[in-house]
Amino acid sequence: MSGLRIDADRLWNSLMTLGQVGAYDDPATGLKGVNRLALTDADKAGRDTVKGWFEAAGLEVRVDRIGNVTGRRPGRRPELAPVLCGSHIDSVPTGGAFDGALGVLGALEVVRTLNAAGVETERSLEIAFFTDEEGARFGTDMLGSATAVGRLELEQAYGLTDERGLTVKGELERIGYLGEVDPRRAPPHAYVECHVEQGPILAAAGLDLGVVTGVQAISWQELTIHGKSAHAGTTPMELRKDAGLIAAKINVHLHEMVASARYGTEMRVTMGRVSPMPNRVNIVPGRVVCTVDLRNPFDDLMEKSERDLADFLDHLEKTHGVQIERRQTARTNSVTFDPKVVARVAEAMDGLGYTHREILSGAGHDAQEMASICPTAMIFVPGEYEGISHNPREFSTPAACARGVQTLMDTLLGLTADV
Ligand SMILES: [Zn+2]
Repeated sequence: MSGLRIDADRLWNSLMTLGQVGAYDDPATGLKGVNRLALTDADKAGRDTVKGWFEAAGLEVRVDRIGNVTGRRPGRRPELAPVLCGSHIDSVPTGGAFDGALGVLGALEVVRTLNAAGVETERSLEIAFFTDEEGARFGTDMLGSATAVGRLELEQAYGLTDERGLTVKGELERIGYLGEVDPRRAPPHAYVECHVEQGPILAAAGLDLGVVTGVQAISWQELTIHGKSAHAGTTPMELRKDAGLIAAKINVHLHEMVASARYGTEMRVTMGRVSPMPNRVNIVPGRVVCTVDLRNPFDDLMEKSERDLADFLDHLEKTHGVQIERRQTARTNSVTFDPKVVARVAEAMDGLGYTHREILSGAGHDAQEMASICPTAMIFVPGEYEGISHNPREFSTPAACARGVQTLMDTLLGLTADV
C-alpha cells in the first residue's frame, strides 16, 4: 500500500471530456453516444486530445509506424525494461465513453498522481493507446497491439481496407499518425490494463472489481449457403433447396452443442447476422449469408466444437443438396494471463479493501496481444445496466472507475519497484 490516492474527480473529468470527442445523438437510445471509429477525423481529434494530455503530464511521447502512441515517464533505472499500461481510444460507431478510454485515461491519472506527489519510480513507466483495437472499420481487431508484438506484419496491417477501399496506411498518413518509430517493441517488464467488464457478472455478484485471469478463444466464420430460389406457392416442399431452412438448422445445431455440454459448460454460440436473398415474403431464399461466433475458454474444446460444426455442415450438404461456403474471419486461441501479475492485482485490491473475484474475459483486448511478449494482467470495472457496452448506454460509476484506477496505480507502483 502506497497511501497515494488518485484524484477521482480529475479522472472523471478526463473521461467525460474525451467522451465529447466524436459524440453524436443516438436515435435508438435518445442518449449521446461516442463514434471514434479508427483513423477517422473523430479518432484524430481524440488522439490529439490525449496526446496533448500526455505531453502536458511531462511524458516523452512517441508515435510508431502503426500509429500507437506511447508516453514514457523515466524511472531511476531507465536501463531496465519499463512497466507498460494502456488500452485504446478508438470506438465502435455506436460506442460509449468508457470502453478503452478508462484504461488510457486511468494510466494518465496514475502519471498525474505520481507527478503531483513527486514520486520517482525505479523502473520507467510507459502508458500507451493502441491503434484500432475494435476492428470495426478495417475488419481486424487489436490491429496496433498485434503489430507491436509481431503477430501481424506491418505491411499486412497497412494494406487492410475499409468498405470504401481506404487503406490503414493512407488513413494513418491523412490524420498525421504515421509515426517513425518501429512498432515492434522490446518486451516490457509487465503490462497491466484496466478496462470496463462489458458484461453482467461483477454487477450481479455485487462486487467492486474483477481480476481477469485470461481471455477465451474466439472463432468467427461467415457461411454462404447456396440453395435454390423458388416460388413459395407453386414449388412442392420436397423439391426445395431452402437456404433459409439450412441457416435455421445450423443455428439450432449450435444451441444443441451448448445444451449437450459436449464442449464444456462455458461454450457460447451466436448467429449474429443472417441475410437471406432475395428476402421476400413469397420466395424461397436461394442464398443466405450468415455468421457463426464461437467462444470457449478451452482451446481443445473449441477445436472439437469447430470440427463438430464442420461435420454438420458436410451432412447438410449431402442431405439437402445445398453448398455451404465457409470463410474463417477471425480465430484466436485462449490466453492465460501471468499468475504472478494476476496475484499482484488481487493483492492490490485486498490492500485497498475492494471486493473482487477472478473472471475470464469474454471479449478480446490489447492485453491478450501483450501477453505474448510479457507477463500481463487486467483489472475489470463493473458497468451499470448489466454491463452493456458498444452502446451509448455504457456506463460505469465514478466510484467504480476510481476503484479500478486506484488498483491500477498500486499494482504499477509494485511492478515499477521490481529491480
Ligand atoms: Zn475495449
